[in-house]
Amino acid sequence: MSIRAKKGKVYLVGAGPGRIDLITLRGLELLRRADCVIYDKLANPALLRYAKPDAELIATPKRTGGESFTQQQINKLLIEKASEHNTIVRLKGGDPYIFGRGTEEAKWLVDNGIDFEVVPGVTAAVAASAYAGIALTDRDFSSQVAFITGREAEGKQKSGIDWGNLAHFSGTLCFYMAMENFDFIVEQLTSKGMSPKTPVAVITEATRPAQKTAKATLATIAEECKKQKIGPPAIIVIGATSKGDSRLEWLTKQPLFGKKIVITRDAEGNAELAYKIADKMGLAIELPVTKLKPLTDSTAFLKALSEIKTYDWVIFTSATGVGQVFDMLSKLNNDARVFGSAKIAAIGTATASQLAGFGIKADFVPTTFTSQVLAKELIETAELRGRKVLLLRSKLASNELPDMLSKAGAVITNVQVYTQEKNLCDLKNASELLAEKRVDWITFASPFSAACFFEQVPVDVVKSSNVKIASIGPVTTKQLAELGVQVDIEPAVHTIDGLLAAIEQAEAR
Ligand code: SAH
Repeated sequence: MSIRAKKGKVYLVGAGPGRIDLITLRGLELLRRADCVIYDKLANPALLRYAKPDAELIATPKRTGGESFTQQQINKLLIEKASEHNTIVRLKGGDPYIFGRGTEEAKWLVDNGIDFEVVPGVTAAVAASAYAGIALTDRDFSSQVAFITGREAEGKQKSGIDWGNLAHFSGTLCFYMAMENFDFIVEQLTSKGMSPKTPVAVITEATRPAQKTAKATLATIAEECKKQKIGPPAIIVIGATSKGDSRLEWLTKQPLFGKKIVITRDAEGNAELAYKIADKMGLAIELPVTKLKPLTDSTAFLKALSEIKTYDWVIFTSATGVGQVFDMLSKLNNDARVFGSAKIAAIGTATASQLAGFGIKADFVPTTFTSQVLAKELIETAELRGRKVLLLRSKLASNELPDMLSKAGAVITNVQVYTQEKNLCDLKNASELLAEKRVDWITFASPFSAACFFEQVPVDVVKSSNVKIASIGPVTTKQLAELGVQVDIEPAVHTIDGLLAAIEQAEAR
């Protein structure tokens, strides 16, 4: 074949088994740098969040009908993209060289004179067993491990698998791509002498919140999988260690394990919350029912920023507000020094830590994170009579805070620094899950997101779905009550972390 002009280097990167933070640091680093990412079906697409906004992203599903890619097409694509870009990440599920055809791709690249590097990944068998409370090796039971493909067996005349050897293997066998050939595998092993009583575990969707494990014996496992509806992608682990040890089963003990939680912040807020939920092995269903809307008229905002030094107190009531103010300051080529000696109050820890990121330590944070308590405690702590107080808030914020502060004698300037609007979202998946009563929680972090959610989802649908409702604080709870929705939990600490902790506690009960 003719050699084209090329400049790029292709990195064959193992994406890990499913959970996004099981990619290696090297893999993530390259993903962040890549000009082009060519990703497999088994690589978690959520990883693409880390790619540059202008990176070219190409999916290469192999077996899903119309849009399916043959290996030949993928190979061609690799060469083509290497001639267009500098850094190409070929993202593959698990480890690129374990049954992933990564080896073929690497050889193909070399044969075509293209630079390559391989970044190993956590392969499915290793991850699945660790997450299912099974140790692949064990001083007492298993001194050797084998990784075997189950697909090779498919009607092949001359198998590369030595069934006789495997049937007498005194260690752990891990079968990949084996669900379709389960009966054949069991038959081969038993007919060659493996005991039908040998322990077997099948782990599907390993490291994801939907992970399930079936445990039985070689004789009964296929039936058990059918009963538990366990299908691909799965790893079959055969051998004495497959019995597992309940002490090693840490995953199912996670309070949010497998819980489906609908989250209703804006896209950015949802991404942050989804990560926290995934960290606890829950599954976030992201519905960005609101979105940030820039102000159409920034005159008052700009004026306030230009005279910010003249205020005695500046109050921030959300992390978003802080972000907007510092974005604007940065556009104006300015920074935290504009605050001069003005004292700064933040409604809660998230807002305070956002300020800290810009080098500002809040002078005042109330004990409870609501506008009402902020006003009450600030009035008790500081002398506000005759003092100039600047509120930098959302256009949608209520009048409670300025009213209370005014009553205490403060001279209030209330400035809108951003606003939010309803965002129409794709509700198909969430509606189906709700109808099937398969959602565990819906969370609301602001009264506005509650209003926007119920403009899109009828209250009756939620009520008949047995789902529990979590509200971040009293103002949101009140809004939900007005919509006819009763709240199951409201945390004492009105932050996202507080909300999540309250759900965890409720689930642990
Ligand atoms: N290169 C990959 C394997 C690709 S072959 C790796 O190193 O993991 C595809 C097979 O991997 C699937 O048929 C299944 O057997 C296994 N697999 C991949 N991801 C899995 C997961 N999250 N849970 C269970 N099995 C998985």
